[in-house]
Parts: sequence; structure tokens; C-alpha cells
Amino acid sequence: MKFRIKLETEFGWGETRSHEICVLERRTIDTSEEDFGLCLAEAKSLLKEIQRAFLQDQVEEISEIARVCRFCGTYLPVHDRRQRHIATLFGRVSVEAPRVRICMCGLPGFPTLKVAHSPLTRLLPDQATPEIRRLQAELGARHSFRDAARLLNELTPCSKQNHVTIRNRLATVANDLDSDDHFKASEADQRSKSSDITVFLDSAYVRSRPEDQRRNFEIVVGSIENRGREKRRFGLSVIGADNPREYLRRNLEAAGWHEGSVVTVLSDGDPALPRLVRDATGAEVNHILDWWHISIRIRHVETTFQTLLSLLKDPEDLAVKKLVQSLRWRIWHGQTPRALDAIEALFRFGLDVRSQTFGRTNDAAFSAVSRTMELQTYLQYNRAALVDYDHRRRNGKPVSTSRAEGLVNDVANARMGKKRRMRWSPQGAHRVATVRAAVLDGRLGKGQLRAA
Ligand SMILES: [Zn+2]
Repeated sequence: MKFRIKLETEFGWGETRSHEICVLERRTIDTSEEDFGLCLAEAKSLLKEIQRAFLQDQVEEISEIARVCRFCGTYLPVHDRRQRHIATLFGRVSVEAPRVRICMCGLPGFPTLKVAHSPLTRLLPDQATPEIRRLQAELGARHSFRDAARLLNELTPCSKQNHVTIRNRLATVANDLDSDDHFKASEADQRSKSSDITVFLDSAYVRSRPEDQRRNFEIVVGSIENRGREKRRFGLSVIGADNPREYLRRNLEAAGWHEGSVVTVLSDGDPALPRLVRDATGAEVNHILDWWHISIRIRHVETTFQTLLSLLKDPEDLAVKKLVQSLRWRIWHGQTPRALDAIEALFRFGLDVRSQTFGRTNDAAFSAVSRTMELQTYLQYNRAALVDYDHRRRNGKPVSTSRAEGLVNDVANARMGKKRRMRWSPQGAHRVATVRAAVLDGRLGKGQLRAA
């Protein structure tokens, strides 16, 4: 049997046109399992043919309409016709696109330099549909450039992709996301500004390319949240971005920040992170040491002491046990001096045990002492950023960047983690992080992608 596939175009002016797309044949006697339905190769060539006919007719009608001057209604002559290539998910299509003479009525007294314009170039300046741009960037931010190219080649009839086409597209999309235009567009749909912004910050290290003379460099990832709004994620390489301060400031603005907002930064102890936000906003920020990072260090003290005490089996150590148990509570309630006293006492106890024991107990005491010292240094170093976490939590305010931890994996490590064995330039990594964050936020799909 035969299947004939046709496309019928109905132009706005009433004309209809029929395109023979293809004829498919199937055996109905001695049918094999391969004969059932459409196969991928047929579907790809079918889509490609439909896209070609579709676009050619579409360009024709759009160009025809563009020939009527919007101001005076004059029907304008076609200056010339040019071959244009449009990259789409369903093939790279060549169309004949007319260039229409510019009407002189619009600018009386001002002779224009251009004589003709192409309506197609105005509509698709990048000569690629937003969909293919989005998919190239999105896949490139998720998989290796080679894998992304392979996926597109395998599943769609788009023009032959390779790691270079994907990388280049990701670069232009990242630049667009970075550009003024994009931010203006997203600011326009900004519903509410907020006077209370929380920024969760963390960072990851990415392997550097050998020619960059360093082993690795940092990717800062963050999530900007304000009550009642969707959070906005970002990824940033300070050395890879053109203007990191401006980049961060624009992201903050798009998330509802304005001059005078109170900004709280939750981060690990690294002082460079809150400093970034301070530089971007030009104002002091409220820096809070993130509870999750403290909690891990408390856990280390708790478990090492648990082991030590179980080896000692001394009922006299009950006081030490209580001290360990109180540690978390004290820090959680912002009682830093009392917590540091407890740490000091635990430290001394550990040293004491160490000086009097051998073997396993001695090792356990060593771990307990070093973990305690670690916590002590961490708290002392970040003392200004310690708060009453309990009080904050009760007031419904965030205390932890554990969400940012997931973010590190989503924005940086999934694509650029050390396990991936890939090496990056700061600029390339910044682009991938920018696109990844936009993908996670669903910003790539919202039609906000426009050519620069
Ligand atoms: Zn006119």
C-alpha cells in the first residue's frame, strides 16, 4: 500500500497551494516488524520536507505583507531576492527572501542610507529559530558538546551538528542572557520589587585548561530569593565574566532587588562571597554563616566524641557527654561565647586523654581534638556572621544554604565537576553556568531569548 503526504497552504489572500511531501510504501504481504508505522529516518525526512514547504510559503506571505507601507499604504517594489538560510530543528532551510524597497514617506526630508530591507532578517536576525537555539544551548549546558551534537543529529533532521556548532551557539545564547536587552525584557515582566532579599551563595572548583597557568578556578553559584517570588539562580565565573559585578547586579535586579533593599547573604565562611554581593549592590549586606556548613562540623565533633567516650567507658565522663550534647543547641541559639567555652573544655579534655592513652583510644582522642579545633577555628573566623538561628527559623527566615548545595551540583558540578575530566576556560565555564542556571529557572523556554 501507499501513503501520500501532502501539505496544503492557504494564503491570507485566498490562494491555495499544494505541496507533494512524499510517498511512503509498505508491504502488506510478508510484512515484517520493521514495516509498522513511520520509522525515525522517514519521520526526519518528512519533517524536513514539511518544514521546507512551510517556511517558503510563510516567508512569501510575510514578505508580501511587508511590501505595503505601514504609513501610507504604498505597495512597494521588490529590490532584489536573496537566498537565506534558516536553521531550524527540522533542517536548515534555504528560502528566497525578497528585499523590499524602503518607502520614502516615513522619514520626509531625511534620505535614508538603505534602499531596501529584508523582512526576514528583521524577524529572524540570527537566522535560526528560537527553538533550535534553545535546544542547542540547553543540551550543550547539560551534556558534553559532542554528546549534545550527537543527540540532535540522532533525533532531529536539523543540519549536521558538531561540538563546535553547539559550543558556538551556547556562547551566543549565554551572551544574550548576559546582555542588557535580555535583562530589560525580564525586568519588564517584573511584578514586584522587594525590600527583603536573601542570596544563597556557594562555590565549586572547575579544572582549568593547561594553557591558563592554573589548576582550577572558582564558579560562584547562587540563588536569589525574595518572598512571594520565584527564585532566580545564577552561575558566575568572576574571572570569566566580562563584568561580574554588573552581572550579579542585574541578576539581583531581575529578582526584585532595588536600591535600599535589605540583602541577606547566606554562605559558607568564604568572605569573598558576601563581598561580591556587597560590591554589586554598593551597600553593606547582612552576612550569615550558613547553618548547614556549621552543622556538618558539629556532627564531626559529636561523632568523634561519641567514639572516644565509648572507648573510655568512664562514668565520670558524663559531664563531657552533656557538653557535647549542648554544643549544637548553644550554636543554634546564637550563644557563641558559651559554645566556644564548651569547645574549649572539650578540646582540653581530648588533649588530656591523648596524653594518657595508647592505641585506638589515642587515635580516637586525636580525631576528637582535631575536629574540635576545626569547629573552633571555623566559628571564631566567622564569628561576626553567627546569629540566633532558632530565632530566625521561628520568624520564617532561611538559615541554610543546603538548597544552594544542590545548586552547586546542578549549575556547576553536573557539567563541569572534576569527575567529568573536562578542562575549561573561565569564559567557557561562565557561559555554561549562565545557561545552566537559566535552564533550571525555565528562563530559556519563556521566549525571552532574543538575538543580540
Ligand atoms: Zn509609505
